Amino acid sequence: MLHLQQICKKYRTQHIETMALNQINLTVNSGEFIAILGPSGCGKSTLLNTIGLLDRPTSGDYSVNNHQVCFQQKKHTNALRLQTFGFVFQSFYLIDDLTVFENLMLGLKYRSLDNKAQRVTEILHKLGIDHRAEHYPCQLSGGQQQRCAVGRALVSNPKVILADEPTGNLDEDSSAQVISLLTQLNEEGTTVIMVTHSESIAEVASRVIRMKAGEIQR
Ligand code: ADP
Repeated sequence: MLHLQQICKKYRTQHIETMALNQINLTVNSGEFIAILGPSGCGKSTLLNTIGLLDRPTSGDYSVNNHQVCFQQKKHTNALRLQTFGFVFQSFYLIDDLTVFENLMLGLKYRSLDNKAQRVTEILHKLGIDHRAEHYPCQLSGGQQQRCAVGRALVSNPKVILADEPTGNLDEDSSAQVISLLTQLNEEGTTVIMVTHSESIAEVASRVIRMKAGEIQR
């Protein structure tokens, strides 16, 4: 369970101050599929990055499975991030000169796990891209690249998948495939939190959170 209380995030660049998150209160229960909707610049990515411990709030409290996050302790937040979250981004962020197989292996780099190669093979099979294991990202379609990125998020068996506009660069068919994959993972027990600006994509979620100007709308 994730619990955010009175979370604020201010960015300061030179003389300009932006309140990206303003007094966010949010509880995410295990097994939920949440879609975060809202116009560009309203704070969706900042919220997702804060939840995933990639970004640090200016004030407020955050607990992950009843453990208070201590943002000052990098080791603590790094370990908690590794244990808990898998990330999927709009631009895939695959490593171009690594094969699909090697990109997924990267998701296990900081894990002590026997049979890493076997785990990667299982995930590639599950995602239907095992025949592409030795291909490079540039040899894949956008949809296959995003499935590979979902695979990289999944290999470490995260409790929560954080997806930031995962279909933003995909055509309609590939989008549908990626959304159905996230839905399947959610049905298998993974919590999914997805940023989108598409009302129709948000319909697959069990809860929709609407944001405006750094705040969650009632
Ligand atoms: P969204 O994902 O809804 O498009 P963001 O979370 O990316 O919104 O951004 C929220 C606000 O914070 C925007 O006004 C954006 O310009 C600002 N912002 C985001 N990141 C930074 C940054 N690193 N430095 C300064 N301002 C930022």
